[in-house]
Amino acid sequence: MEFVDLAAQHRALAPELERAIQKVIERSAFIGGEEVAAFEAAFAEAMTTRHAIGCANGTDALFLTLQAMEVQPGDEVIVPAHTWISTAETVTLAGGTPVFCDSEPGFFTMDPERVRDLITERTVGMIPVHLYGQPADMPVLAELAARYGLWMIEDCAQAHLATLGGQTVGSWGAAATVSFYPAKNLGAMGDAGAVLTSQDAVATFVRRFANHGGKGHHVMEGTNSRLDTLQAAVLSVKLPHLTTWTERRRALADRYDAGFEDVPGITSPPRRPDTTHVFHLYVIRAERRDALRAFLAERGIPTALHYPTMLPFLPAYADRGHERSEFPVVSLDEATMLSLPLYPEMPDADQDRVIDAIRSFAME
Ligand SMILES: *Cc1c(COP(=O)(O)O)cnc(C)c1O
Repeated sequence: MEFVDLAAQHRALAPELERAIQKVIERSAFIGGEEVAAFEAAFAEAMTTRHAIGCANGTDALFLTLQAMEVQPGDEVIVPAHTWISTAETVTLAGGTPVFCDSEPGFFTMDPERVRDLITERTVGMIPVHLYGQPADMPVLAELAARYGLWMIEDCAQAHLATLGGQTVGSWGAAATVSFYPAKNLGAMGDAGAVLTSQDAVATFVRRFANHGGKGHHVMEGTNSRLDTLQAAVLSVKLPHLTTWTERRRALADRYDAGFEDVPGITSPPRRPDTTHVFHLYVIRAERRDALRAFLAERGIPTALHYPTMLPFLPAYADRGHERSEFPVVSLDEATMLSLPLYPEMPDADQDRVIDAIRSFAME
């Protein structure tokens, strides 16, 4: 059994993928071109934003967007303590200071109550992350942002097509960022990412900044962070399948939920009301997590920790001197969470094996 079987997805799409790649090779125009423009338009439509700007990866998407927000030295940006490091490291890279926020109990997303406590006169913005595919509490965060005059960037790297209150994620803030890392819900065959926005000025800035400040004219300095033509061609083949894949992820999550309903010591991930959780990952909380993980490994069932150490406690942030008592929720999550195998092509029989093994561990 695999944690994620990418080959299964590619076997199913092989003829279409090969045709799309071949077409790019025949023209041998590998930067820009109609594939990039076509994918950007289709993805913007899928995510209900006016613009999607392709770039090199999801980390660059954050960095480019932070440039558009004009982060200055000393500026504080509130980010979740529980996320992939990109969300924080790009704030530093842009010249600002990431300030870590504890999670809302149960949901693995930034707690609006804690955000309020972290806002200072130096705070300029916040980056909620829809971690594991579950939308953060955007209405409350958006209200806070408006009240304190902060911008908001949504990190949608794990939340393609997720919705909250009928509104697709990525359309709540000034801009949003997406990753197409191969194992993400929509994955390229290499690194790729995008910035989403409905603000024309942000779109123009990001497009320029990602291409050396505007090709030919260089109205400013920028960098090189473009979406490869080959990756755009691959993503365009995959995008029409994303809704079906998302439905399958959600159906598998329902099956896990049902399997663990009456199991003591195992908590299924709660779903925020009025949302579509797209289950990039299915993350349970288990009382005897490490013992369970070893028990599953012995039976050939792979699991993972996303992420083994919460950001404030990483060596990279040791100079902050953070204490676990400042982050009670993520500290508990760090010790109890466990990511189970889940991908759209996962056979029911494999999932039944995972469920049976966890049930027998918990009931023994
Ligand atoms: C994957 C991920 C990123 C970064 O994406 P890359 O394409 O790997 O650079 C950023 N934020 C979160 C929450 C992610 O999961």
